Formats: sequence, C-alpha cells, structure tokens
Amino acid sequence: MPADARRPDAEAPATVKLPSASPDTTREIGARLGRLAQPGDVLALYGDLGAGKTCLVQGLAAGLGVAEPIRSPTFILIAEYAGRLPLYHVDLYRTESLEEVRALGFEDLLGGDGVTVIEWGDKAEALLPIGSIRVRIDGVGDDPREIRVEGLSPERARLLA
Ligand code: ADP
Ligand code: MG
Repeated sequence: MPADARRPDAEAPATVKLPSASPDTTREIGARLGRLAQPGDVLALYGDLGAGKTCLVQGLAAGLGVAEPIRSPTFILIAEYAGRLPLYHVDLYRTESLEEVRALGFEDLLGGDGVTVIEWGDKAEALLPIGSIRVRIDGVGDDPREIRVEGLSPERARLLA
C-alpha cells in the first residue's frame, strides 16, 4: 500500500535535483532548505566523505538564523544550535551499529519542534520517521555535485527549485 493511501488528499512527495559546482552553491541550497524548514523536520543526508554534507548543514543553519559556526562534530555526535527553530546536527560517521545509533538517544529529538539533520543517514535508516526528507549528494573532490532532495511536499519542492 502506498504511504499516502490513508491520506487521499495528500499530494505525492516530490524530488528536486539541483546541480552544485561550488561549496557556496551547496551552502545556498542548504540555506533555502533552512528558510523552508518546518517544526519537526527530519533531514537525512547521504554522500561519501567529502561530498559536502557538513557544508550543506552550514547553509541550513544560516537559513534557520543560527549565529554560531557549525563544526564537524568529532566526539560530540549531536550538536544543538538555537535558530528560528532549534537545530540538531547529528553526525553518525563514527557509529558502527544501529544499537550505537539508538544509544545516542536522538530518536527523542524526532518528535519535537526542532529540525534534525543527520549526516550519514544510511546508518539511521531504520529509525527515520515517515516523512523524512532525504538529501543525496553525489560527487566528491573537485567534481561538480548533484544534490537530490526527496520527500518534500510539492509546494516546498516548487519553492526549493
Ligand atoms: P562531508 O561532511 O560530506 O564529509 P564536507 O562538507 O565536510 O563533506 O566537505 C566537503 C568538501 O568538498 C569541502 O572541502 C568543500 O570545500 C569541497 N567542495 C568542493 N566542491 C563542493 C561543492 N560543490 N559542494 C560542497 N563542497 C564542495
Ligand atoms: Mg561531515
């Protein structure tokens, strides 16, 4: 049964593909997502090491009005920032199992009013709520990136594109 079968009035979620040839463009795409963010949004980010996930989170934070600089968390796997909405930045790079991911307790954040962004979303796949927004970044190094945003409402997809 399709996910929306119980909500016949809901339009199917849309996918937006955006090219990014520079870190600034990736940050700008993140900033647009931040400006469009709604309470309770969960964004799962996918892409190899160096793809630009943290770069996109920097833009997302700016778009949410976060004043503090976003760092790539080394030991702290969840960082919280104050913006128009609270921003929770989760980085699962160093986690090795779903049990370890669960033990971080970030599922507790998911029901709240903040925006949760998860680097290495594949490591939390089984925990992601229905309605999560998936952002896939293809390319590393000097390659131009392709950024694919899945799961936005058609309205937000139009605004993002
Ligand atoms: P990740 O968090 O996915 O491991 P980072 O955001 O930390 O990646 O790093 C991405 C690196 O790639 C940065 O050094 C950035 O300057 C570089 N880069 C080059 N082109 C791009 C692009 N189009 N978008 C994002 N980052 C880019
Ligand atoms: Mg990163």
